[in-house]
Amino acid sequence: MAEYFCRMSKSRKSLCSGGAARKDPRTLSAVNTRRPGMIPQKTENYEMHRRGEACYLTFPQLDRYQELRHLFTTRCGGFSEGPCATWNLGFGLGNDPDTPENRARNIGVLAECMGICPENLVFTWQTHTTNIRNVTEEDRGCGATRERTYQDVDGLVTDCRGVALVTLHADCNPIYFYDPRRHVIGLAHSGWRGTLDGIGSRMVDKMQSDYGCNPGDLICGIGPSLCRNCFEVDADVAELFAGRYGDFSEFSRYDGGRNKYYIDLWELIRRQLTSAGVRRENVACMELCTKENTDVFFSHRGQGGKRGLMAACMMLTPPEQEEV
Ligand SMILES: [Zn+2]
Repeated sequence: MAEYFCRMSKSRKSLCSGGAARKDPRTLSAVNTRRPGMIPQKTENYEMHRRGEACYLTFPQLDRYQELRHLFTTRCGGFSEGPCATWNLGFGLGNDPDTPENRARNIGVLAECMGICPENLVFTWQTHTTNIRNVTEEDRGCGATRERTYQDVDGLVTDCRGVALVTLHADCNPIYFYDPRRHVIGLAHSGWRGTLDGIGSRMVDKMQSDYGCNPGDLICGIGPSLCRNCFEVDADVAELFAGRYGDFSEFSRYDGGRNKYYIDLWELIRRQLTSAGVRRENVACMELCTKENTDVFFSHRGQGGKRGLMAACMMLTPPEQEEV
């Protein structure tokens, strides 16, 4: 495909005006530190969009629903520098060293792309659990404009309109869930531990038990994360999966030369969702590998552990905002 995106214009003027103003890192990064991202703008699995400098992706399978707004951010279009350059949405701690000022501005860009105020965003508190929170109106702003009132939450589910769920990723699988019949949405952070423990199927169960969803109605999506060649593990981790999943050999391979195992987490998630009742044709996958595209995505493995975090975000629009 000839068309590429996620390119930052060198001629664009800095947003920070004034004589001694800081240079805009969004422009700096394009000129000095990274070549432009090189993934096609559109395939059958995703579409790249741009708002100002910010580039984000959507699933065509979810785009067709008017009441739904969703996206996955790239690293292009924010204000952070260094390994977090430029659109880091992490909390600026540990592996994503960043300042509160940068984060606030980057959250502003996310909210803008969703067409809402930051006060409507609700973030997870990710610790590789399978805990899923039923998000209500009272959670508005948690992790965005105020402290979170909960901990150890790797999945979010809601039927509230105008409340935007957010999970954070840099290699770990984002899973989107949408029930167009019952009007319920969910997002899961499914890293390898969460995938091992089956947070995806737990979300389906929860949507069924708490919101009356029929798994056969659900549309799911797997966002950018490690591909089957890039999730490389040693025997100890492979044994955990093999012990839990009888069909392990069908979604993994062993490379004797390197003495490493390669696990296809996209396929495992597909299998988890379908065994929970989701129709296989209703599980979309962007088929984008974060580690192989570090110009476009943050990647824990691709950046040696120091990286920013990208956001999966999804919202049911308030009735008055639905496009006709
Ligand atoms: Zn890969």
